[in-house]
Amino acid sequence: MVMIYPLSNVSLTDKEKINVDYAFAASWISGTGLFVRQFEEMLADRVQRKHVVAVANGTLALELALKTMGIGPGHKVIVPALTFVAPAAAVLNVGAEPVLVDVSADHWTLDPELLPLHANAIIAVDLMGHPADYQALHVASGLPIIEDAAEAHGACYRGMPVGSFGVISTFSFHANKTITTGEGGAVLTDSDFLADNLRLVANHGMRPERPYFHEVVGSNYRMTNLTAAIGCGQMERWDELVAKRNQVAQWYDERLPKSFGRRPVMPWATEACWLYTVTHPERDRVVASLRECGIDARAIWCALPDLPLYAPYSTQGDYPIARRVAREAFLLPTSAVMSEEDVDTISGVLMHYA
Ligand SMILES: *Cc1c(COP(=O)(O)O)cnc(C)c1O
Repeated sequence: MVMIYPLSNVSLTDKEKINVDYAFAASWISGTGLFVRQFEEMLADRVQRKHVVAVANGTLALELALKTMGIGPGHKVIVPALTFVAPAAAVLNVGAEPVLVDVSADHWTLDPELLPLHANAIIAVDLMGHPADYQALHVASGLPIIEDAAEAHGACYRGMPVGSFGVISTFSFHANKTITTGEGGAVLTDSDFLADNLRLVANHGMRPERPYFHEVVGSNYRMTNLTAAIGCGQMERWDELVAKRNQVAQWYDERLPKSFGRRPVMPWATEACWLYTVTHPERDRVVASLRECGIDARAIWCALPDLPLYAPYSTQGDYPIARRVAREAFLLPTSAVMSEEDVDTISGVLMHYA
């Protein structure tokens, strides 16, 4: 089936191209380059964080965050039962154990009232353009939080930008995210100590001042300068790219038949639409109809407790909310390059289920 309306699409302009050409012409293509530094500074500025370390992707950003916080074998990390799999996989990849916790029906992010007592940290996911409830999570547990902001560039929690919460926060800049570098990620913190360790682990356990002296077992998590060149162009367009997706969401909102449910938004949240998400009791039929029309709609992820791999970590009840949302929700094509006519055409198919 040829998809006429892809689920997501990137928006690239001369801003990105000029930077890439410049890096190419100067042969600055490795992970040590001026665009990497500039990208980190622009992101720090944007979300009001003291330190940013650019890395190869959003999944490695989470692994680096966990390692730097000293989380490994014998530790438990709370992860929402409804999310793209990366946070749960990152916990297993550092040798720790995820503890899956259900999400709230009110906002689809971690339910602060369900946090188990025995855990070492929390990964809170700003799911589908909506922040987690950071104050409530903090009051309920006091545990160190990692904020996974991969799906919420531009969203706010009580007026503060996502990416500024938790001991450490992370972003992904994969091609389907709101701000993109193709593949890419970042780890952010206000702690000088953690920032120092993040850089150390991300660069083979050595410091630039002392080459080949390896203080800790490190690895290579670096983003390339070519990637960061694209990122610097995208950072300049942050407001525009966030606004365009919100415009697309508004066009969908205006046309959405009453039989569909919209992603819920709390009064304390400023949503920034990533992939427009709606629910319908006959989700699978609706998605099949859209796909037959060349519209690349997709059911959202399976609830993690329903994946055999994650069943052993699903010890906190029946996960009714994660399972219901996973059964009823689906994603509609969303990007900064979509027009109102595109949304009209796609919404036309939804009318059949009004
Ligand atoms: C996309 C995503 C990631 C992973 O990012 P990659 O850059 O693709 O590795 C992590 N967490 C969440 C919630 C995501 O949606």
